Amino acid sequence: MRQKLAAGNWKMNGTGPALVELQELAAAHRATRSEILICPPTPLIHRAAETVSGSPIAIGGQDCHVETSGAHTGDISAGMLLDAGASYVILGHSERREDHGESSETVRAKARTAIAAGLKVIICVGESLAQREAMNTLDIIAGQLSGSVPDVVTGENLVIAYEPIWAIGTGLVPSTEQIGEVHDFIRARLDRRFGEGVGGSVRLLYGGSVKPGNAAEIFAVSNVDGALVGGASLKATDFSPIIAALDTA
Ligand code: PEP
Repeated sequence: MRQKLAAGNWKMNGTGPALVELQELAAAHRATRSEILICPPTPLIHRAAETVSGSPIAIGGQDCHVETSGAHTGDISAGMLLDAGASYVILGHSERREDHGESSETVRAKARTAIAAGLKVIICVGESLAQREAMNTLDIIAGQLSGSVPDVVTGENLVIAYEPIWAIGTGLVPSTEQIGEVHDFIRARLDRRFGEGVGGSVRLLYGGSVKPGNAAEIFAVSNVDGALVGGASLKATDFSPIIAALDTA
């Protein structure tokens, strides 16, 4: 059985006062059946980890460097994330691929480094609107998976997030049939590459405009093991009902 995962990506949002949202989440979901993860901006990771200590909430980073240390001004290593209290890192988010020109090859190298450091990785894949309209979605996903996922993964250390770029922060959401098609495809690709033992235990998240109002419908789709949530993870009042929907899915 794959444990469901509700992951929140705060992106470049939040300073100290935002930690109260974590206190509220921790108080509201003491008995959750799902795993809960919040990925705050890096300066908040240490305080966030202290805030949720003893609760079922895990803390993650939003990126890490491919090297373990060195002359890389402004960058963060996987070991630093771990040391600050993170257990996960998001890699290959479309905003990193677009804003920082990250290739799948870079994402794969970062994933290898992060896993070696002891972090679990959430690798993001997803097509643009033009790619979907050109009926290239599955080819794009296949290429991103084979390019971004290293060989060293297990069902424990890898999570895949399917995030159509056109659905991120737009309020647009693919149909449940479209989500199901991509998630079934990702599962089949993982099974084929890693065998069903590993492929069948990797959790697959959907991400892109998940809200309290659409979460239950999305969580009922085959091979959807949870969500990666941006905007609606910033406030406990929005993220809580999403976690509750996952708990009962
Ligand atoms: C994201 O950026 O990972 C995301 C899913 O954002 P939103 O939920 O705001 O669409």
